[in-house]
Amino acid sequence: MSACIFCKIVKKELPSSIIAEDENVLAFMDIMPARKGHILVMPKRHAETMLDVSEEDLAASMRMVKRVSVALQEAVHPPGFSVVQLNGEASGQTVFHIHFHIIPRKTGDGIAMKWSHETYLAGEMEHYRVKIAEALKAQSKTR
Ligand code: AMP
Ligand code: ZN
Repeated sequence: MSACIFCKIVKKELPSSIIAEDENVLAFMDIMPARKGHILVMPKRHAETMLDVSEEDLAASMRMVKRVSVALQEAVHPPGFSVVQLNGEASGQTVFHIHFHIIPRKTGDGIAMKWSHETYLAGEMEHYRVKIAEALKAQSKTR
């Protein structure tokens, strides 16, 4: 994707602060950190979201997320950290090349990832469960 800024980072057409890279994955510093030490991990091959990324690139990305999280913990000692991944404009995604955020956290840091809770009407949760489970079953038949 020629217009994608993260593809440009992969191709080194744009500068970035790289932490680690291998054939398929890049880990680099977020330029506008939610907290200092904020890291991004992405597959090098362009995909927009969880829906179109290959399972192989996703698995490779998650292996890097694990390794970088351990390094962040050892190096920076945050009291906690969040791993976050957004899909679609409605979720707040701004760069449409799939990536995982690793954000150092501390109690009361004001980073809003808490949500209010909806309440299911009678039978509603089952309705959602059945629809999702059926879609999943149909998916595994086509693979
Ligand atoms: P998202 O909202 O999940 O799409 O996150 C996109 C993230 O990319 C934001 O946290 C930005 O701060 C970060 N970002 C945008 N441009 C760059 C860049 N050139 N280098 C590093 N991080 C970037
Ligand atoms: Zn891209």
